Amino acid sequence: MKERIVGIETEYGLAYDAAGSKPQTIEEIARRLFAPVVEWGRSTNVFLTNGSRLYLDVGSHPEVATAECVDPLDLLAQDRAGVQILADLTARAQAGIRAKGGEGSIHLFRNNVDSAGNSFGCHENYLIPRRLEYARLTDHLLPFLVTRQLLSGAGHVVQGPDGARLVLSQRAEHMWEGVSSSSTRSRPMINTRDEPHADAERFRRLHVIVGDTNMAEGSTLLKTVSTHLVLSLLETGRVMPSWAIANPVKALREISTEASATTQLLLADGRTVTALEVQEYFLEAATEHARSTGMDSGVVPEVLELWARTLRAWAAQDLDPVADTLDFAAKRSLLTRYAERHGLDLGDPRVARLELAYHDVAPGAGLVPGLEQRGLLRRFTDPAAVSQARSEPPRGSRAEIRSRFLHAARRAGVDHQADWLHLKLTEEPSKTVLLTDPFATSDPAADELIQALDTLPTVHTHSTAL
Ligand code: ATP
Ligand code: MG
Ligand code: MG
Repeated sequence: MKERIVGIETEYGLAYDAAGSKPQTIEEIARRLFAPVVEWGRSTNVFLTNGSRLYLDVGSHPEVATAECVDPLDLLAQDRAGVQILADLTARAQAGIRAKGGEGSIHLFRNNVDSAGNSFGCHENYLIPRRLEYARLTDHLLPFLVTRQLLSGAGHVVQGPDGARLVLSQRAEHMWEGVSSSSTRSRPMINTRDEPHADAERFRRLHVIVGDTNMAEGSTLLKTVSTHLVLSLLETGRVMPSWAIANPVKALREISTEASATTQLLLADGRTVTALEVQEYFLEAATEHARSTGMDSGVVPEVLELWARTLRAWAAQDLDPVADTLDFAAKRSLLTRYAERHGLDLGDPRVARLELAYHDVAPGAGLVPGLEQRGLLRRFTDPAAVSQARSEPPRGSRAEIRSRFLHAARRAGVDHQADWLHLKLTEEPSKTVLLTDPFATSDPAADELIQALDTLPTVHTHSTAL
């Protein structure tokens, strides 16, 4: 994604199955999970040496916000490294409970709804230039996002008036607006809160909160690269046909409920189109744009091919060609085969448990590693790259500087803080460096600070305790 910074924030759901032993509240489980983090960073909100932010969000939801990535495969590796870091913390918390005689199991879910019906999110962040006409961009982007669930919906079994059914998106029912600045009460698909974490004169951060959390790497890849390409297309300022939907929230929910590409959408100009037609337009325009601008390099051609294959599969009403790559198709195949084999209705609690297991990333608990090992779900990351991404940053962004600073400060045992924009030594005389260019991989003031740290004796030999 040359010229684009992308980061993903994933909120996880926790659950504890006491298995007859002493029950534990979710707050207690979250506290146990973050105990090593607090010991390491004296806070439940820390930046790690891979440049990511790890914190405990309200409602006892652990969250990892990946560092700023410019390469889509780096983004996948960083996202997956976040899973591993949280899974390790889960294993440690689990061992602590066992050591005290507890028999239960901690579950760590990468999904978007808990059993009480609360929703938590997976936010995508895309760097866009400030000079753009923002309202035009979001107007054109919204129909793409409403129909994007055909590519990256994670699927969800819900009880309807005619029994249980598999809907396309976990998030759709929890969206209340198209574009707005509030994030919880009337959750919008695009959150306009203007926090660029960068030079505000040059950059803006587009905050997309409509997406499902994905398990399949193919879904995350297709979701982020397709959105990046559509943004690039819109950034050209070229006059484009409007697909403005009369009622985007209603359309989002209808597509999800029908889980079909042929859902009819009423446009603002009175025309009616299908979700598939909207996606086909964007695929064709994005493919042409990628070709004419030389953006069709690296992983992009493969993603465009996957996008095309996905739309063909929807058109043919046969998702088997993408069942080894995308969440909805993989989950549908898994759940329906299981229900058929055991003569169960989709609403059966055993099917619900299987669905949850698909999203469980606690060590040894989830289904996805097994599906990947058996070749039933495609992996795009290299395991070695994921291991490395646990402690090292993605290349090509200021995350490299943050990482060097954190490694150095940690090694020297010097009190420090970092966030997306700042590097700070907190001991008197304190010193702060501001990094306003997300693409910068070096900075004179930061380099000076790091060099000074490098001259200090070693206090911690392992700078990455987590
Ligand atoms: P919160 O989630 O606490 O409400 P937030 O939306 O600012 O705050 P963070 O959890 O801190 O989000 O995560 C910010 C995300 O934005 C990270 O994934 C990061 O990589 C990404 N990011 C940081 N700077 C930029 C930028 N200039 N453009 C695009 N993405 C960015
Ligand atoms: Mg966040
Ligand atoms: Mg956010």
